[in-house]
Amino acid sequence: MIAENLHKVISTLREGVTLVAVSKFHSVGEMMEAYRAGQRVFGENRPQELSAKVPQMPSDVVWHFIGHLQTNKLGKVLPYVAMVESVDSLHLLEAVSAWCEGRGKVMDILLELHLGAEETKGGFSAEEIREVLGRSARYPGVRFCGLMGMATNTPDEAVVRADFRRIAELFTALRDAHPALDSFRELSIGMSGDYRIAMEEGSTIVRVGTAIFGERL
Ligand SMILES: *Cc1c(COP(=O)(O)O)cnc(C)c1O
Repeated sequence: MIAENLHKVISTLREGVTLVAVSKFHSVGEMMEAYRAGQRVFGENRPQELSAKVPQMPSDVVWHFIGHLQTNKLGKVLPYVAMVESVDSLHLLEAVSAWCEGRGKVMDILLELHLGAEETKGGFSAEEIREVLGRSARYPGVRFCGLMGMATNTPDEAVVRADFRRIAELFTALRDAHPALDSFRELSIGMSGDYRIAMEEGSTIVRVGTAIFGERL
């Protein structure tokens, strides 16, 4: 079933879009079904769950962290992941950069945009993101790879599309404003319920859990 679901999702992906299989709350056994069907990029949102799963999965898995990350949990996440998609505050950005710089590493990150409409607390405003990118050299332990965002949680497709369009327009404007930041090319928008709309609006990364693994229990 998982392999079948995965193939169905893959068949709908646009050219060049990276699929992150969001495996939070799902077992290593279920993840291995997706792995054996060819999936290599997995997303987790809790440090404890991530660090427990890493040694149980094959070493060629590429991990993305997609949840809220407290700065006292960096050691449970940063050694294992290829990308932190959910850098949602200046405090976290500074901490990730310092942690990596101290270890001679550079972490790929996305800045999480907070759209005014949603209930969640975390995330940067568009203005804060402009400011951060204007002084990106101050964060030598991170590579700014783009933006992550979520649409308003609503069945109204027009609202979802408008949210994604706003995020995509900001992304394009930032990319054009910082041509020297050539790592800045990823736009992570879209989950199970809305990733097709997100791809139409320009996403390069989609984070899909339920449509692959089923409901989280
Ligand atoms: C859980 C989660 C997803 C996946 O959601 P689905 O609706 O199951 O596809 C995507 N992004 C983030 C940040 C998540 O926490």
